Amino acid sequence: MAEAAPPATTLAPQLPEDQSVPGRAVAGDPVPGPPPASEEAAAGALVHLPPEGALLAPSLCACCLEPGGESHRVEATGGPTLLIQYCPACHEHASAARTRWLAVSFASLLLGLATAASVVLAFGALEPWQQSLVAGGAALLPALALLGRGPRHPHTARGPAAWWRPQGSHGWSLVATHAGWARHVAEASGARWELLEKRAVRWPWPVLALATLVALGVPAARGLLGVDLRVLNHHEVSAVLIVDGRHSGEVHPSSAESPAAGLQLRLVAGRRHLQLMGKDGRVLADTTGSLQPGVDHLLAVSPEPVCFWIERTSYGRASTDRPTREPLLGPGPLWRLPGVVDSWFAPNPPSSDADSRSSGGLLLALRQGRCASEPAQALADPNP
Ligand SMILES: [Zn+2]
Ligand SMILES: [Zn+2]
Repeated sequence: MAEAAPPATTLAPQLPEDQSVPGRAVAGDPVPGPPPASEEAAAGALVHLPPEGALLAPSLCACCLEPGGESHRVEATGGPTLLIQYCPACHEHASAARTRWLAVSFASLLLGLATAASVVLAFGALEPWQQSLVAGGAALLPALALLGRGPRHPHTARGPAAWWRPQGSHGWSLVATHAGWARHVAEASGARWELLEKRAVRWPWPVLALATLVALGVPAARGLLGVDLRVLNHHEVSAVLIVDGRHSGEVHPSSAESPAAGLQLRLVAGRRHLQLMGKDGRVLADTTGSLQPGVDHLLAVSPEPVCFWIERTSYGRASTDRPTREPLLGPGPLWRLPGVVDSWFAPNPPSSDADSRSSGGLLLALRQGRCASEPAQALADPNP
């Protein structure tokens, strides 16, 4: 600091003679909160812009109070403008701040989006609000790392040393990180000022907004990445479905084809560990598979072979086609179906009902039967 600054309370007599101008106040005015004992102890200061007035800045560096040299415009959207001075070293960190925050914002966005995607995909069992919290928190990390570092002596700021802050409905105050510099401004302008006890933090609003956006985007991502899973249990005991180690529902036994059979649930797409544990202690299924968004999946366990097939029924004025059938191949117990199922374990409505479906289209049914015989029988009699 270039000079020993007197305590704030001795300032009133040093103010210019126009201190009695209506609307202007002096430094001795009561300020909210207990003021710091001295400028040295203060972490900055607020200089209130007088109504109908303007502030004047000294030719000293706003950050370190060394002789200035580099002019810098302090602006606020829809607010006042003040030309201040920085020494060359401080001018560098003050003007680099914008670029740095831009970089931090990008880092926030990337980190937030990457975390949101991986949290939704890898930790689908977490509650949605927990996922939002994790993703939003990750987006804030780069900003917190930057905010956490304080300035190093003789600097009083890592970025700009002065900026405008709205005060009340129409007023503006200048936040200054150097209390001694703020006193110079207040004295030269005849403005009311107050010392700040805590280091003034210029909140990175764009980063906060980005983090909020990322957190709010998590439910949307869950919706986009949602997958329907139907679980069938043909054993004689009930079973518990465990997804990624988390209890996800009970699957009652069923045997015959029935639209109400089994358990239907919505999971988040991605690699999932699916386990079916029988109430008698047996492991009925233990499989890890990739659930793909946009299509339905079937998890089925049975003591004897069961066959599943997809029936496609086309509707529309010109359509007289019979349903086409396509068996589900592979050993199971987890199948990825070729689309979204309209009729689970039941035939599609007959094509003669097409009048009620003006737009026509194609419906998908998942059917179940004993292997070898049932599909053939169903082919012979599609609508028993
Ligand atoms: Zn400086
Ligand atoms: Zn500096």
